[in-house]
Amino acid sequence: MVKLHDVIVIGGGPVGSYVAYKLAGMGHGVAVLEQHKQPGEQVCCTGIISQKCITTFAIDENVILRQTNSAKLFSPSGTLIRLWREQTQAGIVDRAALDVAMAGRAQGKGAEYLPNSLARDIQVGDDRVRVKAVRQGERLNLEARAAVIATGFGSKLVERLGLGRVGDFVMGAQAEVEMVGIDEMEVYLGREIAPGFFAWLVPTSPPKALVGLLSRNSPRLHLKRLMSSLQAQGKIAWDKAEPCYRGISLKPLARTYGERLLVVGNAAGQVKPTTGGGIYYGLLCADIAADTLHQALKDDNLSARTLANYQRRWRKKLGRELEISYYARKFYERLSDKQVDRMFNLIKSHGIDQALCQAEDLSFDWHGEAVMRLIGHKIVANALRAMRAPFSFRRQG
Ligand SMILES: Cc1cc2nc3c(=O)[nH]c(=O)nc-3n(C[C@H](O)[C@H](O)[C@H](O)COP(=O)(O)OP(=O)(O)OC[C@H]3O[C@@H](n4cnc5c(N)ncnc54)[C@H](O)[C@@H]3O)c2cc1C
Repeated sequence: MVKLHDVIVIGGGPVGSYVAYKLAGMGHGVAVLEQHKQPGEQVCCTGIISQKCITTFAIDENVILRQTNSAKLFSPSGTLIRLWREQTQAGIVDRAALDVAMAGRAQGKGAEYLPNSLARDIQVGDDRVRVKAVRQGERLNLEARAAVIATGFGSKLVERLGLGRVGDFVMGAQAEVEMVGIDEMEVYLGREIAPGFFAWLVPTSPPKALVGLLSRNSPRLHLKRLMSSLQAQGKIAWDKAEPCYRGISLKPLARTYGERLLVVGNAAGQVKPTTGGGIYYGLLCADIAADTLHQALKDDNLSARTLANYQRRWRKKLGRELEISYYARKFYERLSDKQVDRMFNLIKSHGIDQALCQAEDLSFDWHGEAVMRLIGHKIVANALRAMRAPFSFRRQG
């Protein structure tokens, strides 16, 4: 007879492991399927998370490679804006180590990890879900009262279950290199470098750094060009770097729940549309997912109607932020290099960058308010009007 788990989590990334940790800690029987030999294998991520994320989710300090409180932003023509705050703003984590640590924490609470196990199909029955997986060539059948899909970007499972697709996405590309004389995060804008998005050079543990970018097309080509350019500028050195490529959701799934099912993290599109950062938002939603499931398991009511509460709650927390940030992103994508340079010069010459840096209530994780402040600024508003920018958000009371 097949064992009946309370919950099967599909995907042992940080978000799936956090759901598993919380549910196992609340006394539920949890199994986690991870397709790789161990969590953290083949990750593709820069690992920047806010200080708030680190403290809220008690991120293991052993996985933090360094802390940072500043970044240099370069406009397409090379104008520099340096963002700086006195306090530490973010940590750069070793992403593979983070995944291992999060999985270890869930296992410590009793979650059972099944590595090398690729979930292929989920069938939802009246009183259980049946998950079909393949483990090292062998078929594996598992059953649980509910399933959580935390498969990250691009899994077909979500679509097959009739939950649709994420509304928009971009490709991320990144490689590890050695830096030369750089000790601060750098961000580069410009259509030649990363059309409509941005590129980065992030020091991790000296002399190592991560170079990467987001792009809707030709990420491989753009990354190659970026690395050659940074090498020519004497900022990095590399002879062999193996780039990784991964999709990032920019717009959430319309439906993140079903009968006995929840979708979380990048699979659900719970990602900052401005930067593509998804760890913090994914964890916030994982927290809500675990609470919702805990109650539903206790009440033995795992209907889609009950689980819809998860979506209501995470949308209440993130919905408006995601909406404003997505529109800001779409607007930015339409700007020419000349327009971006003009905005840079305006922001710099009027000290708007410094004002934003000093505004205590603006945070690393919530960009909607910064966007609203920026477009509410008289100088910027006039410039946007001249560019016919379609911003019409009203502030909530
Ligand atoms: C280049 C790049 C840089 C990034 N930098 C940052 C950053 O600095 N900060 C930040 O916050 N975010 C960043 N992100 C985004 C971040 O990586 C994701 O938002 C985050 O990994 C989402 O976590 P997750 O647990 O939802 O998914 P994932 O981390 O993708 O984990 C999903 C897990 O599910 C497993 N899996 C998938 N399908 C199956 C299956 N069918 N069966 C079993 N297992 C399966 C996978 O092997 C994986 O372990 C970056 C992304 C990219 C591409």
